[in-house]
Amino acid sequence: GSGDSARRVPALVVRGLEARYGRRGRLVVDGCDFDAEAGRAVALVGRNGAGKTTFARCLAGLHAETAGEILIEGEALDPRKRAGRVFLGMQESGYQLFSDTVEGELRLALQARRVREAPDTKEGAAEGSLESESALIEAALERFGLEELRGRHPLSLSGGQRQRLAIAAGSLQGSRVLVLDEPTSGLDLANMERIAAEIDRLKEAGRCIVVITHDFEFACATCEEIAHFENGRIAERFDLTPSTAPRARVLFGFD
Ligand code: ADP
Repeated sequence: GSGDSARRVPALVVRGLEARYGRRGRLVVDGCDFDAEAGRAVALVGRNGAGKTTFARCLAGLHAETAGEILIEGEALDPRKRAGRVFLGMQESGYQLFSDTVEGELRLALQARRVREAPDTKEGAAEGSLESESALIEAALERFGLEELRGRHPLSLSGGQRQRLAIAAGSLQGSRVLVLDEPTSGLDLANMERIAAEIDRLKEAGRCIVVITHDFEFACATCEEIAHFENGRIAERFDLTPSTAPRARVLFGFD
């Protein structure tokens, strides 16, 4: 213990972020400031077209910002390195698939973490950890209800199954920040509860979670805070508590 560690660096800091499509496109992300703490989840809500997904893609290094900065645990990283620290679980096909089986996909996610965290001990680490690697994969298959699907090609899965696979991979990949874009779309109640339980686990493990969602109940069950994204930036932000729930409900009640 020490005084130094008392000075907490937020997991994610965004300052003056701008992004557009095409050189002359309008600013879809327009001077956005945002920060998020390890061990907590923030619900990011807002109308369709507000720029949430573009913002999320910038965080994960998948869309080039034209101005501003993004710090992960206090570090400004180039977009390629940021992609390893910020996991983006996308709604549709955005989640990149790298393997031809569900199980292989999880193994690759775990290996990505190993390579990043122990770049100098490739062989030694690989030798000693095979057993624990399999155990971690088995545990993830079980938690996400993917055991029966382990040999399936990821592209043959339903949207909801793929959603679960993406979040399982993000969890194993060890990213400090996880951005989940509509993680409950296409999920039934049991699977929604699985994802909520996983978000709790990730928070306990000190990860920082940003959930883009239109699902009020899910946000209340998983997130400590809500941030309203409007016209390319955060327009309003507050803790999600029983007393603020009515205001939060308004923000979810767009359509
Ligand atoms: P949200 O996730 O809040 O619905 P998006 O980030 O998906 O918002 O979209 C923000 C704006 O950017 C919208 O006006 C959308 O039409 C535009 N946009 C999104 N993707 C592209 C693209 N690939 N090319 C051009 N414009 C895009």
